[in-house]
Amino acid sequence: MQPFDLIIVGGGLTGTSLAAALRESRLRIALIEAQASPALPLSAEAWDSRVYAISPANAAFLARIGVWAHLDPERMAAVRQMRVQGDRGGSLTFSAFETGVQELAWIMESSLIARELREGIKRQANLTRFCPAAPLTLDIGENAATLTLKDGQTLTARLVVGADGRDSWVRQQTRLTVSDQPYRTQGVVANFTTEKPHRGTAWQWFRDDGALAWLPLPGKRISIVWSTPDDHAATLLALSPEALAERVAEAGGHLLGKLAPLTPAAAFPLRLIRVPRTVAPRLALAGDAAHGIHPLSGHGVNLGFQDTEALAHLLNAAPPWQDIGEARFLERFQRARKEETLLLQSATDAIARLFDARAPAAPLFSRLANFGLTLTDRALPLKNLLARYALGAL
Ligand SMILES: Cc1cc2nc3c(=O)[nH]c(=O)nc-3n(C[C@H](O)[C@H](O)[C@H](O)COP(=O)(O)OP(=O)(O)OC[C@H]3O[C@@H](n4cnc5c(N)ncnc54)[C@H](O)[C@@H]3O)c2cc1C
Repeated sequence: MQPFDLIIVGGGLTGTSLAAALRESRLRIALIEAQASPALPLSAEAWDSRVYAISPANAAFLARIGVWAHLDPERMAAVRQMRVQGDRGGSLTFSAFETGVQELAWIMESSLIARELREGIKRQANLTRFCPAAPLTLDIGENAATLTLKDGQTLTARLVVGADGRDSWVRQQTRLTVSDQPYRTQGVVANFTTEKPHRGTAWQWFRDDGALAWLPLPGKRISIVWSTPDDHAATLLALSPEALAERVAEAGGHLLGKLAPLTPAAAFPLRLIRVPRTVAPRLALAGDAAHGIHPLSGHGVNLGFQDTEALAHLLNAAPPWQDIGEARFLERFQRARKEETLLLQSATDAIARLFDARAPAAPLFSRLANFGLTLTDRALPLKNLLARYALGAL
């Protein structure tokens, strides 16, 4: 029996950032990660097609936990302007200058952050990594949670955090209810080189065949996320890399000239996952285990980092006599995260549905949505408010 204070199940960005944020705490932490494979090695030619738009609030969080300073600036691009284009002519432009910030977001590869986080926690004195390892049973007792691993080891702790992604094993062991709605849509991701410079601009088009985002990468490169119905995603994935590049260039009105493939395309099914209660005695859920969101607002991993920051803040501030697995104590974490999560999930879901060409009243909704985009673009205070909220600056 190995005693810990905290067991984190899942060593993705949420789990590793939580461990890193608790580096200075007196908690003895166990981190359990199923996959042995390290993050992809980075090279000048190889670019990870999963990229994130990291908000300024989360850049500051990553700086506070000692990760930001180690990220290679050559692999990051600042977004200084964002253009949102409706399918019937509506448009909205956000600029860092108008919003009063240096940049709207930073675009970087998932593997860049993952690698830094994993390397950082390897040197952490209060952390024991179990990797590759997977849990077999979880027993919630009155004073402790007991977790057995598939290799027969037994760990105990006052608190178990499920940071094990959208199909969370930890969540499945609890009575916490979940609503999991597939969007019947895939996020098709790929990277391209461009003929013309993007000048730090991100674009988002709401089209009949889904929402297409172009995100700037360093140099003349972009990454795309095309959130599109399952059948259209299959059509896109069946194209040759060159034909897909041409299709993407055409969908964006050849704004950056000719595109050439940089990485093969991949696709991920999109789901709206709502978990009304994310804590229970001796249990808390964080990151995708606690919420799934449509990628059109680029908030998925940002919400996970904000969960981490809130939970780490609570745990770091807890007095030594506090039982960190006590339900009333954990309620404070749930309260701190509930409103933002619900708001972003609902707003993103509403936008996705407004522009969904498969919806019964699609043409009417779409006209209204386009009108709304243009109106918002003209109302500078409202636009700045939206931008600042999205940046985590409110
Ligand atoms: C197409 C697409 C585009 C996206 N674009 C963006 C974007 O632009 N910006 C953004 O912010 N977000 C984006 N997201 C969302 C983002 O990828 C996720 O929010 C993020 O990866 C969640 O991190 P996590 O650590 O919570 O979960 P995960 O990344 O799923 O990590 C969970 C970890 O737990 C491990 N694990 C799972 N089960 C077990 C188990 N039983 N035992 C031990 N370990 C286990 C897994 O191996 C994994 O390492 C996008 C998502 C998609 C699908």
